[in-house]
Amino acid sequence: MNCIFCKIIEGKIPSTPVYQDEQGYAFADVNPQAPVHVLIAPREHIASIDEASTDQRALLGHLLWAASEIARKKGLENGYRIVVNTGSDGGQTVDHLHLHLLGGRLLAWPPG
Ligand code: AMP
Repeated sequence: MNCIFCKIIEGKIPSTPVYQDEQGYAFADVNPQAPVHVLIAPREHIASIDEASTDQRALLGHLLWAASEIARKKGLENGYRIVVNTGSDGGQTVDHLHLHLLGGRLLAWPPG
């Protein structure tokens, strides 16, 4: 499968790791939109949250927990945002499920 995030997780494409465990891999976004911009992805290929199965509910919760853990370790005590872009209207450009963790500046709402 020609998936850029699978290749990053397998170490075939370089990345800046932020956190990893048996279920997920987190790395710095190459085009950061905030002082802290980390992507948290499951090791197994899931194309989007829309493709996640009932059996993968615990994995989704784990990724959300990992994002909050990274935020704590990054010292984002003023707050942060976790985003999951999904599909074309949602602005998803990489078809491997990932959470964006954004923080370190005031984030506007609503997003564009
Ligand atoms: P999305 O548009 O929600 O699918 O997010 C994809 C994100 O992946 C974007 O924020 C990109 O900047 C980021 N990205 C794409 N290629 C890489 C890469 N090789 N390393 C790190 N981040 C990447």
